[in-house]
Amino acid sequence: MGRIVLDQVSKRFGDVEVIPPLDLTIEDGEFAVFVGPSGCGKSTLLRMIAGLENLTSGGIAIDGMDMTDVPPSKRGLAMVFQSYALYPHMTVRKNIGFPLRMEKMDQAEIDKRVETAARSLNLMDYLDRKPGQLSGGQRQRVAIGRAIVRDPSAFLFDEPLSNLDAALRVGMRLEISEMHERMQTTMIYVTHDQVEAMTMADKIVVLQAGVIEQVGSPLDLYHKPQNVFVAGFIGSPK
Ligand code: ADP
Ligand code: MG
Repeated sequence: MGRIVLDQVSKRFGDVEVIPPLDLTIEDGEFAVFVGPSGCGKSTLLRMIAGLENLTSGGIAIDGMDMTDVPPSKRGLAMVFQSYALYPHMTVRKNIGFPLRMEKMDQAEIDKRVETAARSLNLMDYLDRKPGQLSGGQRQRVAIGRAIVRDPSAFLFDEPLSNLDAALRVGMRLEISEMHERMQTTMIYVTHDQVEAMTMADKIVVLQAGVIEQVGSPLDLYHKPQNVFVAGFIGSPK
């Protein structure tokens, strides 16, 4: 599960239409990347899918259910933010289990889910540490773990690696790709980095000034860019 359909979705801030009406479908299990220059509307689009931003027009459906007016916590999505706010006084175990404790889930079930998440993220050896005793990459994984325990139908990432140094970024990129391979859950990943887009995506959505310039696989975009903007942005030979 995790098919996301945007139907004539648009966004206006005051007098400025930052996203004219657009249609887009993300298939179940797909790794979709929204890529484009800073200010083109990637975060706004993602936040509308998450329910953190109202739509000016149009509708959003997830697995055939109209989600347009459904609050963020009821959409079954997990948003992984750029700045991962972990609770410094809590262990990794407590941090990952936090959303489930808020839902008053049974402790035995919480323990089971936390261990499953920790195993899939290679955090088993760190469960009793506190965030201050972890590297940046490990902290990022704890933040992802906190999303995984809720068993979302899709993960939404907004430039999750942009605070990390270059070496760590490559490692985390691979980890997120491997996580997608293992879980086969829909992921939407926002970045301004063409290399991330080309190496991680099943489907790339190229945006410029709120307009979708092209949707396609990395190979499609590389070999058949639809216009000069896409060719230039992707670094195609044409
Ligand atoms: P990106 O994530 O691609 O860098 P954003 O989605 O953050 O782009 O922003 C798209 C455009 O919308 C930008 O011009 C930005 O200044 C504008 N914008 C974003 N959020 C707001 C807001 N809350 N109020 C007014 N303008 C906004
Ligand atoms: Mg952004």
